[in-house]
Amino acid sequence: MQAELDVFFGRMNRRGNRQSAIEMLSREMISCELCPRLRTYCRKIASEKRRQYRDWEYWGKPVPGFGDPDAQLVIIGLAPGAHGSNRTGRMFTGDRSGDFLYRALYEFGFASQPWARDRHDGLRLRNCYITAAVRCAPPGNKPTPEELRNCRPYLERELAILRRKRAVMTLGRVAFDTYLGWAAGRAPLLPRNRFPFQHGASYILPDSLPRLFASYHPSQQNTQTGKLTAPMFRHVLQDIRRFLSSAESNRI
Ligand code: SF4
Repeated sequence: MQAELDVFFGRMNRRGNRQSAIEMLSREMISCELCPRLRTYCRKIASEKRRQYRDWEYWGKPVPGFGDPDAQLVIIGLAPGAHGSNRTGRMFTGDRSGDFLYRALYEFGFASQPWARDRHDGLRLRNCYITAAVRCAPPGNKPTPEELRNCRPYLERELAILRRKRAVMTLGRVAFDTYLGWAAGRAPLLPRNRFPFQHGASYILPDSLPRLFASYHPSQQNTQTGKLTAPMFRHVLQDIRRFLSSAESNRI
């Protein structure tokens, strides 16, 4: 087993191999049918469509991760939006959450442009990779615990491929808990109550695990009610930028 892992991680040391591994994983994920409730819901949304998108051919399948396989920053969201990623097939693309997120990522140099419309809009992520706790749009944006468990191996495999990660930004509580669950499987963590979920919190994790930066999710519900504002979101990205340029980050 160790020999197999050594071969795997040896392969993942090369960028081209990381890219190929991400593509292979994405192909596998796109045909996943493990969660019948979510697959039925995504197909239903894709066939019914929202009136303003009636000329679109909705993606309607699980949405793979997106970004730079050499990224030092990994962003974990909750799940695709029903008429956003479930329509366009790319993370945070085609809805208000994505508009909010990509504008901020562009400001901090993590994205090549401040907007995301579809998979062919030319957007590139720099030193950043975006993924999610669950890859199929859930009704009411609420995946069940079983659906979260079903989808977790995809995230685990992605995180294993993204060997240069130094910081993980979690968007919302579900992503926060998902990342801590992943970390707890790799190193002994302090009790869970030592990691309260707070916007702007950052936690150093043991065994050189990527540092955790917590943010509220940029859902329309949060951004329209002022629970999450652009300056609040920028504040977290500024912390991440500072951390990635510090010697401390390079020691991890
Ligand atoms: S949520 Fe994840 S595990 Fe469930 S069907 Fe979609 S891709 Fe598969």
